[in-house]
Amino acid sequence: MAKNARKKLIAGNWKMNGLAASAPEFVRVVGAYQGLKDSVDVMVFPPFTLLTSFGTASRGVGVLVGGQDCHAKASGAHTGDVSAEMIADAGGQAVIVGHSERRTDHGETDADVRAKAEAARRAGLVAVICVGETKEQRESGEAKAVVSRQLAGSLPDDAAAPHVVVAYEPVWAIGTGLTPTAEEIAEMHGFIRSEIVGRFGADAGAKMRILYGGSVKPDNAKEILATADVDGALVGGASLKADDFLAIARAAG
Ligand code: PEP
Repeated sequence: MAKNARKKLIAGNWKMNGLAASAPEFVRVVGAYQGLKDSVDVMVFPPFTLLTSFGTASRGVGVLVGGQDCHAKASGAHTGDVSAEMIADAGGQAVIVGHSERRTDHGETDADVRAKAEAARRAGLVAVICVGETKEQRESGEAKAVVSRQLAGSLPDDAAAPHVVVAYEPVWAIGTGLTPTAEEIAEMHGFIRSEIVGRFGADAGAKMRILYGGSVKPDNAKEILATADVDGALVGGASLKADDFLAIARAAG
């Protein structure tokens, strides 16, 4: 397929960071997006407390906002949880599911992640489904087997672009300043695409975006984003500063 058939996507995961006073950083991203929107899609995932105000600030501009997690059910007795329908109701268009911090901190299984991705579809949200191996798994040569298992268990049977995006995030690269080499990223992304083609067919495989996540910064973004089968980035720490996040978005253009 043509190299530009999958528009690059830069997604910012604010994690448990950000108060109302942080909104100007997001407003700067929104303000700069006009000059970027032809070359790159941008999503920002603030904490739930900021979702409505960010959704209002970006309405009509094209910067999409979303939740960092959702419950699989639409409503019910689940204290502290937020449903995909609630994210949509608050102005969100997307949700991250299966982030390694959710898998580790909350014991989320592949089946949980799949149910959340199905909930996202039900609510009309884009699901950014995260997979990735730990340091020990990479060192013992299991990285592809782990990612293959996560993809098989976490992606719903109707997964397809544009409502499903896969994010490959090696756990050992998140927040550490470490990244795989470009060759290692290309190898894993090529493998993920072949797994998607094997399960969903060549057309689905050609269209689905695969993001790289893990210590993407302004100074390594260009090389990572130019790597084969990398269709964008899921950015944690560097998404909190508008200058850094915009530099990464510009590197995708
Ligand atoms: C993430 O949390 O998804 C992430 C990639 O974090 P960081 O960019 O800080 O490594």
